[in-house]
Amino acid sequence: MIVIDSDECGVCEDCIDVCPNEAIEKRAFTIIVNAELCDDCEECIEVCPTGAIYEED
Ligand code: SF4
Ligand code: SF4
Repeated sequence: MIVIDSDECGVCEDCIDVCPNEAIEKRAFTIIVNAELCDDCEECIEVCPTGAIYEED
């Protein structure tokens, strides 16, 4: 599953823009991933400028 380290996230919203499934959203200045919508395409990992998004078993 896709995980976001909120300490590393700069809330640039690039991952929201790139996600094809609209699985990422901003809520109260925090970026969250909806695992039910995510298909692990990893496009968000590639676009994140701070390395805040990663895949976790
Ligand atoms: S892995 Fe793909 S589907 Fe899942 S949150 Fe990232 S961009 Fe969206
Ligand atoms: S692309 Fe990375 S830094 Fe930008 S909002 Fe998403 S997780 Fe945060």
